[in-house]
Amino acid sequence: MLPNPDYPRRSFFYGSGVLVFALFVALQLAWLGSWFWTSFIWFFRRRPNPRPAPGRVTHAAIAEIIAAVQLGQPSTEGRYRRCTRNLDGFVLADRVYHCTRTGQHFAVYDHFCNWMGGIYLDNLKPFVAAQFYMFLNAVYFSCVSIYRLAAQGGHAWFNFQGAALALCLLVVGFTGVNAFQCIQDLGWRDRVAAEGKYEKFFDVARTIPRGRNRDPAVDFFRLASSPWDQGSGWANLREVLGDGVWKWFIPFLPPSRVTNYGKRRGGESDFPLGPFWRQVEAAAERDDRGELPVELTPWLFRWKPRTANRRGQGRSSGVDAPFVGDPG
Ligand SMILES: [Zn+2]
Repeated sequence: MLPNPDYPRRSFFYGSGVLVFALFVALQLAWLGSWFWTSFIWFFRRRPNPRPAPGRVTHAAIAEIIAAVQLGQPSTEGRYRRCTRNLDGFVLADRVYHCTRTGQHFAVYDHFCNWMGGIYLDNLKPFVAAQFYMFLNAVYFSCVSIYRLAAQGGHAWFNFQGAALALCLLVVGFTGVNAFQCIQDLGWRDRVAAEGKYEKFFDVARTIPRGRNRDPAVDFFRLASSPWDQGSGWANLREVLGDGVWKWFIPFLPPSRVTNYGKRRGGESDFPLGPFWRQVEAAAERDDRGELPVELTPWLFRWKPRTANRRGQGRSSGVDAPFVGDPG
């Protein structure tokens, strides 16, 4: 029952009304703000077709690595991975995927959302925030609706309260599952659609620096776990949403992986590699497959091509790829 307006403690009642309204305003700003910012980034600040930074550890399909090495010509950035969609042959950086709507390529591209535009690295955080705040909105409106309905008289021509309650539970359930899956896949696991659903493995190449007594070589790894996994769900959330927990809830604050993207000149990879990768690397260094983690499929080998083009060696690009061919 609603309190009687003549009830002496009406100031408490109006106070809580103001609080409920303030919560309403805050939730609308959070939800619509996240939505707006996700779309704004896509339509006005889009960064398509990122140039791969030179890196020793590169994401690549095994077949493409073999083909490139046999031709003596990976890309000039030392990359083996090329887009095979629409035959555009674009050289792809780590975790860059093809968008069929635009025909362009985006880092950690997840999917094209008809409500907000393409979801990728730059707007992934506001997108996750929008799903989360949409769920909070559903909870809020359900609570207000149920509270208001509870005060209605029970003389309706059908069970209006029961139907409204069922609808509230349905909306809360739907938005809750949606937000949970979104946070779990994109945040906790840090895997976008292409990585979680379509590519079951991460094919990775590591170029071996040319030593005095060593031939140039490339190590191939087919991993059942992401080499960019930071080791725990919390560490992945810090990577995706920002390094401070309070920043996670502000969609306009980009995490450092967005602001630093493309600046890793001479780094290992376009995204920071995680502890799982370190284990793999250490096991490969010892040449001991038996010590490899169980998540790794037992396919690891070293490629030493006979027809490496030695003329490309004196290159000043700082790229550690041994098979860069002569452009002429
Ligand atoms: Zn493409």
